[in-house]
Amino acid sequence: MLLARIFKELETAEPNCTVIKPHQPEYETLRKVWNGTVDRRPAAIVRPRTAAQVAKAVQLAAECGALLAVRCGGHSFPGLSTCDGGIVLDLSAMNHVVIDPVSRAAEVEGGALLGHLDVAGAAAAAGAGAGAG
Ligand SMILES: Cc1cc2nc3c(=O)[nH]c(=O)nc-3n(C[C@H](O)[C@H](O)[C@H](O)COP(=O)(O)OP(=O)(O)OC[C@H]3O[C@@H](n4cnc5c(N)ncnc54)[C@H](O)[C@@H]3O)c2cc1C
Repeated sequence: MLLARIFKELETAEPNCTVIKPHQPEYETLRKVWNGTVDRRPAAIVRPRTAAQVAKAVQLAAECGALLAVRCGGHSFPGLSTCDGGIVLDLSAMNHVVIDPVSRAAEVEGGALLGHLDVAGAAAAAGAGAGAG
């Protein structure tokens, strides 16, 4: 089974990259997205903590031809950040933001929300609060 190979390789090569499968208690909570009418069941939810783990998961999914959905906040109305039967790459553990107070440039990890940017902006006294809408 191709997906089983992905999970085994990820769990072996990247021990702190969490792979949550349907039989695990947190699966039902983690598979949900903002739009409650989108009710999809991925084969697993992969929660990387580093860019290397993201790269590994994407590489393995591509090699195996597995469906891959990337999730940040999960607010996509049509549910583009989840899928049935494939892998959800849940970036929520990667929410680090670094702001250079001089240039006011922000380096933002792929799972960061506007709140993370606001907190980092306040800490850097950079006035970098993010507007939305
Ligand atoms: C109630 C509501 C109010 C909204 N209000 C606004 C608004 O005021 N202004 C506005 O601009 N938008 C608004 N939106 C739209 C919303 O901002 C977009 O749907 C946005 O994509 C949500 O971001 P997310 O991180 O939750 O995305 P997700 O649902 O996690 O992902 C959306 C898409 O981006 C991809 N993706 C996610 N993270 C990454 C990543 N790190 N790298 C590559 N691809 C990635 C996903 O695969 C998916 O295709 C609103 C949506 C809702 C439901």
